Amino acid sequence: SITAWHHPCRRQEQIMLIQPDTTDNFIDAEQVWSIIDKAQQPAPSLVREILAKAGEKKGLSLLDVAILLENDNAELDAEIFATAKQVKQATYGNRIVLFAPLYISNECVNQCRYCGFNATNKELVRKTLSPEEIASDVRVLENSGQKRLLLVYGEHPKLDATFIAESVGTVYETLSDKSGSIRRVNINCAPLDVAGFKLLHQAKIGTYQCFQETYHQPTYEKMHLAGNKTNYLWRLQAMDRAQEAGIDDVGIGVLFGLYDHRFELLSMLKHAEELERRWGAGPHTISFPRLEPALGSDISLAPPYAISDYTFKKIVAITRLAVPYTGMIMSTRESAAMRTELLQLGISQISAASRTYPGAYSNPVSDQPTSQQFSVGDHRSLDDVVLDLVQHGFMPSWCTACYRTGRTGEYFMSLAKDGFIQKFCHPNSVMTFNEYLQDYASPATLAAGMRQIAHELESSTPAVKKQLMAQLARMEAGERDLYI
Ligand code: SAM
Ligand code: SF4
Repeated sequence: SITAWHHPCRRQEQIMLIQPDTTDNFIDAEQVWSIIDKAQQPAPSLVREILAKAGEKKGLSLLDVAILLENDNAELDAEIFATAKQVKQATYGNRIVLFAPLYISNECVNQCRYCGFNATNKELVRKTLSPEEIASDVRVLENSGQKRLLLVYGEHPKLDATFIAESVGTVYETLSDKSGSIRRVNINCAPLDVAGFKLLHQAKIGTYQCFQETYHQPTYEKMHLAGNKTNYLWRLQAMDRAQEAGIDDVGIGVLFGLYDHRFELLSMLKHAEELERRWGAGPHTISFPRLEPALGSDISLAPPYAISDYTFKKIVAITRLAVPYTGMIMSTRESAAMRTELLQLGISQISAASRTYPGAYSNPVSDQPTSQQFSVGDHRSLDDVVLDLVQHGFMPSWCTACYRTGRTGEYFMSLAKDGFIQKFCHPNSVMTFNEYLQDYASPATLAAGMRQIAHELESSTPAVKKQLMAQLARMEAGERDLYI
């Protein structure tokens, strides 16, 4: 039972205030703290027992997670990192999925104290892309080799579900100079009602992503000063409404730096458990934004709960152990060096060559702090990121096969747990990588990439090798977008 009405004191900036189900708050702060209390000063034997269980890729309980987080023995931490690397290798191999964010609008009526787009930031140049401007940015991205985009929006009455669905349509319809197209459009926008999510589902979005920012309600209330986003429960229940509308790939996250990272990680994993219990599949992805400096945001310059690089690595490694089959996303908020380490510890998807303001790809002259959401830590081009991945032994992938063959949600998770990723994702990633090399790569990346593909063929089973050789021959003859 969702009711909506217009706030009386705004004209153009009308805010829809929407009522969530107040009885459905599955984050019990007291319970989360009691788990943390129970995990204090764990014995080394207990930590090793948990790591042995994690090595079997069956996931971890919330208490296990708290115990690993509380461990402060450096030798055991090294074992946590080593086990995370093993689990990552066993479930994902060396595959890394690449995407780019596309900011459609930085107009926003909310007042999130950490974000450069917040309504009180008068220095920000506001812009919502027209369909032509969207197409222009998409062409630049496609011409560089991107195949997967994450569309990002502020929250504003003019950015309603119909607008968002239409912008998704524009992206799918835009063709690059080489007749390539974007094959998966994911969305990061404010939570909608079920009817709104149905429109996004009909527009064929991939993942719906929305970060709770902080699961700690008192902190949430301090951080969100105006607009719909003040409503903690409306956001907490967003993924249930998305699922109800048929969107079965959903992505969650915490903005690390706002509150105690132990509380946040446990609560986020509780959210994941709750989604699995209710919908048969946990989140498709988990993202790990860390608070970055943003124009007009005092909080972002001095995060109240800043976490060290070391703690951040532990969070990523432990999440990999807790949810071995969930996609884990790292954005260009982090530096190149940090991202490389995190890839080994558990991250499976990264953005590359990102710009965080509307129109940035076709109009890079506006590359200035007065239009972007936050400052980016990795400024390399897509081709540089691809070459770097190859040099570190990773296999760049733009695969979109599952989404386009209907292998999503609960069905995807059941397949993933049966070694499916090695059987299907691996060959599919080789094919998309080959496509990138043939159509977009610089000479240096092409040479390094072809060596990598030769190596992948040699290390494949005879059946996979035969199948791949046949597909590569079809690509040699000019076919594109092949997948199994
Ligand atoms: N307006 C929508 C919302 O708030 O959910 C979607 C877009 S918002 C730009 C996407 C995400 O950016 C937020 O969920 C938040 O986690 C992240 N973000 C905001 N300010 C940030 C900052 N200063 N540093 C890092 N990430 C930030
Ligand atoms: Fe607006 Fe989202 Fe930024 Fe908050 S985080 S100010 S809702 S764009």
